[in-house]
Formats: sequence, C-alpha cells, structure tokens
Amino acid sequence: MNSFTYTRADDVPSAVREVAADGASKFIAGGTNLIDLMKENVMRPSRLIDISHLALNEINSTAGGGLRLGALAKNTDVAYNEEIEQRYPLLSKAILAGASAQLRNMATVGGNLMQRTRCCYFYDTATPCNKREPETGCSAIAGFNRGHAILGTSVHCIATHPSDMCVALAALDAVVHVTGPKGKRSINFAEFHRLPGDTPNIDTNLGADEIITGVELPAEGFPEHHSYLKVRDRTSYAFALVSVAAALEMEGETIKEARLALGGVAHKPWRDQQAEKLLSGQGPSREDFQQVAEALLRDAKGYGHNSFKIELAKVAIVRALSQAAIREGHS
Ligand code: SF4
Repeated sequence: MNSFTYTRADDVPSAVREVAADGASKFIAGGTNLIDLMKENVMRPSRLIDISHLALNEINSTAGGGLRLGALAKNTDVAYNEEIEQRYPLLSKAILAGASAQLRNMATVGGNLMQRTRCCYFYDTATPCNKREPETGCSAIAGFNRGHAILGTSVHCIATHPSDMCVALAALDAVVHVTGPKGKRSINFAEFHRLPGDTPNIDTNLGADEIITGVELPAEGFPEHHSYLKVRDRTSYAFALVSVAAALEMEGETIKEARLALGGVAHKPWRDQQAEKLLSGQGPSREDFQQVAEALLRDAKGYGHNSFKIELAKVAIVRALSQAAIREGHS
C-alpha cells in the first residue's frame, strides 16, 4: 500500500475545499470498497479525507412528498427505516439483497453509488485493464468474463456496476444531490453512472471536486406492486449475475406505469424507457412481459462465458414483473 495522509473534514464546505485542493485525494466514509482497493494497490490516493463525521446521515421528508436519504446514512439504517419499508419496499429489499449484514452496517448511501466494479482483472494489477490504467487493454473481453456486461459495453471495457441498491434507485427515478466549489446541483439517477465508452476509467458524472450530500426519492415508491429479483451463484454475499427491479402502478387490472431496471448486466443500472412503455395500458400478461424482455435485451451481446446472461435476464424480467403484478415483493 502506498503512503497517504489523513484529514478529517468537519463540514461539507471544508470537505469540498480539501478535495478540490488535491486532485489525487479521495473521500472516505464506510471504507468498504476503497480500503480493499488501496490494499490491492488499485487505487493510490495521496490523501484520505474522512467525511464520516459530517451531518449527512439523516432520512428526511421532502417538500415534494418524497424522502431524502443523507449520503452518510448507513445501508442498514436505510433498509430498516420504517418509512422506507412501508413506502419504498423495493429499495429496502434491494439493499438487503446486497453484501452482508456487517458490510451493510458500515456502507453508506454515497459510498454505495461510488463503489467500483468487481471485475477480477481490475483488482489484479499484473493484468491489463483500461479502467485501472487507461489504454492498456481489457483482459476480460477475451478472458474470463462470466460476470461481465451484455448491454452498453464498449471495446474498451465490459465491466458491470456491482450495486443492488442502485438498481432500485434507478427504477425509482431517484435524484442525486451534490455540492462542489461552484455550489449545489442535482443529477438524475439515470445520468449519474456512465457507460464505459472511450473512458472506462471514469465511472460517474460526479466531479472530482464534488461530494454527494444526499439521494432524493420521489413521492411514488410503488409499495403495492414491486419486486427485486436477484439471480446469483450463492443465496447470500454474492454479486448479481442478473438482477431486476420491477415496479408497477396498476389501475384495476391495467398497468398504468411500469419501471424496470437491471443490475449485473451493464456498467450502470440499465433502464430502457421505450421498452417499459410497451406495458402501459396493458393487462399483466406473460406474453406482454416476454415482449418487454425481448425489447430490453434486443441489443445484448455476449462475450462467451457470460452469453447465458441474455436468456437469464429475459426469464428474470418475466418473473419479476409477474411477482410485481400479484403484489409480491420477493427477493
Ligand atoms: Fe478492466 Fe473493464 Fe476490462 Fe475489467 S472489463 S479488465 S474493468 S477494462
């Protein structure tokens, strides 16, 4: 591990000042991913700015009828918050499908958004990786890629985003609030994470000198018709091969609105609003769900080991939508 300095920030303005002053510095809160990456020599920050004592851990109501999750709220506290369980059970179930109880007790909302891919080559500094070292190549494309992406990939990277929580936040149309030297701004969740394109080393559209202060949930939480389905190699403490966050707003037997987000298949939680619209005004039928699954996966591309994910994702979408339609929210 490289040597680094440690600073503790007392408030958001000082945290922004500290990070803006040193482009090689990083914020640390729960540390559940960054410390691993530092131990493996994958990330080598010159300075760690401890933000764990900032007053950003509350969950509050918003003027628009939604909820704002403080960036430092622990994953466990969000998942078991009474209002989240009642109004946004999709989010609660997605969080509880991820990691382990110990990790969820440490991991924060902001850190969950900022966690990096678990591609094994990214962690192995003896192998080429465009995300770790730009323009060195991608070892996964012709290598062991069973867990890798099938949508939105580029010739430079086929990594997936590892989060479960972010898949639910994408389906819920959350908004990320950030603060930087130029003030505050908000980023729609769909625009927060990036596809790899030519710059797979850049995971998000958060500026290097900005800090996440919170994540806002809109008023609609789809409490009655939702499902978070996670398909993985083990039933706990495993990343998704494919996950599906499905949410439906029903009027009687008719679907008024459908939301679908996929995890484990792309560099970011995957939404396709054109495909979702195919369900508007329809009854909840298996045939329509299959049509949506085909539409969502129409541009999917396998790389060998991970080609099974295309069919797996289709089946998972149909199952998650079927569960959501009958008011079941099984994970
Ligand atoms: Fe690196 Fe991305 Fe290729 Fe993995 S998939 S080796 S993270 S460039």
